Amino acid sequence: MTMPDAKTHDAINIGIMIAILAGLSYLMIWDKNPIAVRYLNIYTISLFSISYLFGTFFLSPDLDIESTPYKRWGLLRFIWWPYKVIFKHRGFSHNPILGPLSIVANLAVIVALLLLLVGVDLHTVPLRFAIVATAGILLSIEVHIVSDFLVSKMRDPF
Ligand SMILES: [Zn+2]
Repeated sequence: MTMPDAKTHDAINIGIMIAILAGLSYLMIWDKNPIAVRYLNIYTISLFSISYLFGTFFLSPDLDIESTPYKRWGLLRFIWWPYKVIFKHRGFSHNPILGPLSIVANLAVIVALLLLLVGVDLHTVPLRFAIVATAGILLSIEVHIVSDFLVSKMRDPF
């Protein structure tokens, strides 16, 4: 199977993000949808965008190999070493449900440990922000998985 490289993935993910942001801005400006009015503001939209970009560049399902996203972690790449060893490439990590779950779970454990080490009480992190950040990351991973699928279908249709 032919898969898009990291550059192509980044470009696709950013294109989709621009479309999502355009949609969200439209909802915000339109100002009629009660859910949009309640939850869409500069903070949630910025957090969503940052999480999505972070997911795109650092939390790709290709963390299961010596990939560009894996190398972007630099000295911290050891964090993903167990993930890479446990999941064979394009298996588990590219499953539409298990992939994002396993990546986010791995990250959540690391972040929770870091916050505890620094002395942050996890209960003080507002739930709304945790949900928005997780949504941004999950979406970036799903876009990656769908692009892998579509590009490989386009290149080898049979
Ligand atoms: Zn991939």
